[in-house]
Amino acid sequence: MAFESLSERLQDSLKKIKGQATLTEANMDEMLREIRLALLEADVNFQVVKEFIANTKEKALGQDVLGSLKPGQVVVKVVHDELVELLGTSVSELDFSRKPTVIMMVGLQGSGKTTTSGKIAKLITKKYAKKPLLVAADIYRPAAVDQLKTLGQQLNVPVFEKGTDISAEDIVKQAMAYGQENQHDVIIVDTAGRLHIDEPLMQELQNIKEITNPSEILLVVDALTGQDIVNVAQSFNEHLSITGAVLTKLDGDSRGGGALSVRHITHVPIKFVGTGEKLDAIDLFYPDRMADRILGMGDVVSLVEKVQDVYDEKETMKTFNRMQQGTFGLDDMLEQMHQMRKLGPLSGIMKMIPGMPKLPNINDDDTDKKLKQTESIIYSMTQAERRDPSILNAKRKERIAKGCGRNVADVNRLIKQFEQSKLMMKQMGNLDPTTGMPTQKP
Ligand code: GDP
Repeated sequence: MAFESLSERLQDSLKKIKGQATLTEANMDEMLREIRLALLEADVNFQVVKEFIANTKEKALGQDVLGSLKPGQVVVKVVHDELVELLGTSVSELDFSRKPTVIMMVGLQGSGKTTTSGKIAKLITKKYAKKPLLVAADIYRPAAVDQLKTLGQQLNVPVFEKGTDISAEDIVKQAMAYGQENQHDVIIVDTAGRLHIDEPLMQELQNIKEITNPSEILLVVDALTGQDIVNVAQSFNEHLSITGAVLTKLDGDSRGGGALSVRHITHVPIKFVGTGEKLDAIDLFYPDRMADRILGMGDVVSLVEKVQDVYDEKETMKTFNRMQQGTFGLDDMLEQMHQMRKLGPLSGIMKMIPGMPKLPNINDDDTDKKLKQTESIIYSMTQAERRDPSILNAKRKERIAKGCGRNVADVNRLIKQFEQSKLMMKQMGNLDPTTGMPTQKP
């Protein structure tokens, strides 16, 4: 599978920082160095890597670090977001606004143009109920016409072809007229490719562009192409102003880095990926899913986002300030437990964390029950007791236990739990709430 070694290397470097209790500029630099090497070794373009690293560093250092999450997880989110940004942020569908919609397929020979033309014809017939016409305009490779004809038969999609003895320009002119007469709403033009870019080819493609006025010019690139992809993409884009790219052979064993650079180089979206030789092996391109796959992240990202959504920042800061002033009390602990609860069932949260061992005994009903018990004990206390449980003597404990219908042992257990979380808070209190780094005392 493409990106496998890149994926492994990135995950290794992120694992290291995930294990760190605090994020410092030093351990961050080390991680970024490793990410940089991993990207370069995967054939990602040098300039792209440089910008990627600079952006990641800037964003990671500027991030607020949320109380209960380790800073490493925030860095993972930053790297993930940066990767999504590199890959194009959102899904980009085909533009069908013009009638007929002409889709011109371009790319080097062997990149998968003809196969992808067939795949797109099948996809849009099924998904958008379109009536496509395939046009065989590659007159230099005789087999290309036959290949398209065979695909058309398999798909039950008509193929317009005039052999290889007439010019590609004449073929598309006739195909446009034929398409309109026969009410085809989408015309897919399979153009010629070369092993390398050359001027006569670019001229021919420009002529076809002029004749057909296409809504889409899709550059088909093979994920197996390494650094050369940059030149290919740049050249096609300069000559034709492409509207999108298709990455083929993602099922193959490639390093994939060239493919990662395509969007950055051309500034056009990757619209589809090809994942096999069969005609349904095509998917819309989802940048976030690709980033997830590369980082092997389980649902860490959704977990981080969930925390950001439900964590009340003001409350967190209030608690944090009380921690720093040494006035963290039982009400604060209860508040934290409520915030955690807002994330949903604990068993669900555990499942989102990759590498988390399966814990057979998390019972969400039990967790809820315990939270209710804790609440009832705390609510039986006076404000003064909640602020400073050290004043709880045997008599007070007995009164509290009676008040909430529990026994003194339960009250003692709660106090022990509070002492533990206070200790943990004290350790966290030495961290700056906005950077998660130890506060430097002059
Ligand atoms: P063209 O010269 O650009 O028209 O390329 P073709 O469509 O003839 O494809 C070249 C070869 O790549 C063929 O053997 C295709 O079956 C194969 N191919 C195309 N797309 C994919 C893909 O996504 N995955 C795999 N594994 N093979 C593909």
